[in-house]
Amino acid sequence: MSEFNLNNSIRENIKGLQPYSSARDEYVSDGTEMVFLDANENPFENGVNRYPDPQQRNLKAVLAEQKGVNANNILLGNGSDEVLDLIFRAFCEPKVDNIISLPPTYGMYKVLSGINAVENREVLLTKDFQLDTKGILNAVDGNSKVIFICSPNNPTGNTINESDILYLLNNFDGLVVIDEAYIDFSDKDSWLKRLDGFPNLIVTQTLSKAYGLAGIRLGLCFASSQIIAVLNTIKPPYNVNELTQKRALEQVLKTGVLQMEVGQILVEKECLLKVLHEVSYIKTIYPSDANFILVEVDDANKRYNQLLKKGVVVRNRTTQPLCANTLRFTIGTKIENEKLITALKEIA
Ligand SMILES: *Cc1c(COP(=O)(O)O)cnc(C)c1O
Repeated sequence: MSEFNLNNSIRENIKGLQPYSSARDEYVSDGTEMVFLDANENPFENGVNRYPDPQQRNLKAVLAEQKGVNANNILLGNGSDEVLDLIFRAFCEPKVDNIISLPPTYGMYKVLSGINAVENREVLLTKDFQLDTKGILNAVDGNSKVIFICSPNNPTGNTINESDILYLLNNFDGLVVIDEAYIDFSDKDSWLKRLDGFPNLIVTQTLSKAYGLAGIRLGLCFASSQIIAVLNTIKPPYNVNELTQKRALEQVLKTGVLQMEVGQILVEKECLLKVLHEVSYIKTIYPSDANFILVEVDDANKRYNQLLKKGVVVRNRTTQPLCANTLRFTIGTKIENEKLITALKEIA
């Protein structure tokens, strides 16, 4: 077992950083009527003439309660893509450090490593899209700062085995990020419950998928209060705008809507799965705990274009490693799925 030491993980220039102190950081309203002449805002009320709360306190309070963590274990970002970028910028020294990513997986880890000039060491998943834990630890060296694990994984849909993630958490002395963008569709446990046990664990989630709020950009990051404090020092002060905070708060309070919509999507997913089994040119249907299904077809490029002509846009993943001739179908409404089903049958 190796020991994780947060201080060894933080970039030198970040350790001593004095964060920008905004007007809303220096005077935090306690609810008393005050005259705010500190931020050079336009005083005429229009709903958004004031800067938003840089710490999103109201939203975090509700999320903390719903997710069973403390508010100081949460950082919010402009989508989880911003959260992932902050992790690079806090912990990975450009041109020195490296990260480990596990294709086929979400493309942003690679893109962000490129943007941040941090080497991306790729270790392929196994044939059944699980972790090659030996291969991963072989790829690790003293400059490996983060392993990115996506579970349920995009584009494959499967959940990564708990025992393999545990093995990495215990044997890798850097950070392990578990991207749970699709966790709300899964009946498997979130890693959030285990934050306390692992000082090197970061869990990311998003309101872009199950919550139906891709357009407002809100990403969630959960970790020890020490890790969150580091990320807080480098985040742009007003990274989550007022409209997003308001809309997100409204939506997370409507817990019935989330349950109902996820429930319907899962019912639709079962209907679609039944039909997929009957389509002759679909060779493999991969198990999915997410709101999409990856299938292997006879010729992905051909089938993709045929579906396009029928007015249905799916994702062609054929160029991804281990994903030759695969298409990814997002679960839509009943009507949308029926259009997909009709098109799949017509092109047979
Ligand atoms: C869709 C998706 C996200 C969402 O990113 P946002 O920036 O929050 O919209 C994150 N991770 C994975 C794996 C995804 O598929």
